[in-house]
Amino acid sequence: MSRVYNFSAGPAVLPEEVLQEAADEMLDYKGCGMSVMEMSHRSKVYDDIIKEAEADLRELMNIPDNYDVLFLQGGASQQFAAIPMNLMKNKKAGYIITGQWAKKAAAEAKKYGEVVELASSADKTFTYIPDCSDLAITDDMDYVYICENNTIYGTKYKQLPNTKGVDLVADVSSCFLSEPVDVSKYALIYGGVQKNVGPAGVVVVIIRKDLVRDDVMPFTPTMLKYKTQADSASLYNTPPCYNIYICGKVFKWLKKLGGLEKMKELNEEKAKVLYDFLDQSKLFKGTVEKKDRSLMNVPFVTGDKELDAKFVEEAAKAGFVNLKGHRTVGGMRASIYNAMPKEGVEKLVEFMREFEKKNL
Ligand code: PMP
Repeated sequence: MSRVYNFSAGPAVLPEEVLQEAADEMLDYKGCGMSVMEMSHRSKVYDDIIKEAEADLRELMNIPDNYDVLFLQGGASQQFAAIPMNLMKNKKAGYIITGQWAKKAAAEAKKYGEVVELASSADKTFTYIPDCSDLAITDDMDYVYICENNTIYGTKYKQLPNTKGVDLVADVSSCFLSEPVDVSKYALIYGGVQKNVGPAGVVVVIIRKDLVRDDVMPFTPTMLKYKTQADSASLYNTPPCYNIYICGKVFKWLKKLGGLEKMKELNEEKAKVLYDFLDQSKLFKGTVEKKDRSLMNVPFVTGDKELDAKFVEEAAKAGFVNLKGHRTVGGMRASIYNAMPKEGVEKLVEFMREFEKKNL
């Protein structure tokens, strides 16, 4: 068996230990004679799996009791519509535009109400997080929306915006469980799991209970109404059973490692290896303002498109795969999620150092 170092932005690397465990349980899950893929979502065995996943996630994130945890489908993109349908009571919300994903969320929300663009970093190709200390937020806004970690551009909010008392909604798809969060500061946190948590097909929504209500927009599909999902504990219809099971295993892996405090420490150490190298390199350059750098997604360039392509190709041959930047920005991007070992980043840096020597 030979595994590569996979720097994909998502679907992304998963902990080897989790994959091995899943492999061991593939044909016969805990003596029930079948795989988790084959069992009824209404069975006792499966009920234990989904309940345990929720309990472990609650423990990891210290989720207060007045929040519901939902395991849903449709990816993060489905939430771009579900959020306004469920939360836009006044039909008005503020959006902070820090990249493609926030832009897409805002465009979708415009179908359902007024969207006020509170701030944007589009002027510098989203290479920074705008100052959010005094935005033009008004009381009639139902929520303020952010994309907390910008997967494509490699920026992350180090401080949450001052929302002046208005509810905060955050897409945490690419920083989910990478560090501790104070859930009580948000009205709704959501993320697709395919970066830091599990296989594509699950989106986790953590929502304050007073926002789970019946008076949503009248055309809201039953499946997109948070109340439908909360009332049935994410089992209104057949959920992505196997994927939730894998997420549950990742939650246990994180607990065993020491929880989110420890994860943050490891992620900081790991990202530092790469950022320190970029900061002294004469060939490679990080593209993001230092204060806003993400611990998860690290974009960089050589400044020469042909050399970028050569690097990506040679790196892949050496076992460092998926380093090509997003198709809209070019260059390179190393996504170094929770499951990427520090050793992977160290070896990548070694490779970059050699490449620099040969190509400078
Ligand atoms: N938000 C962010 C921050 C993302 O990185 C992505 C996917 N790369 C999405 C939303 C969209 O996710 P999905 O493909 O699950 O709809």
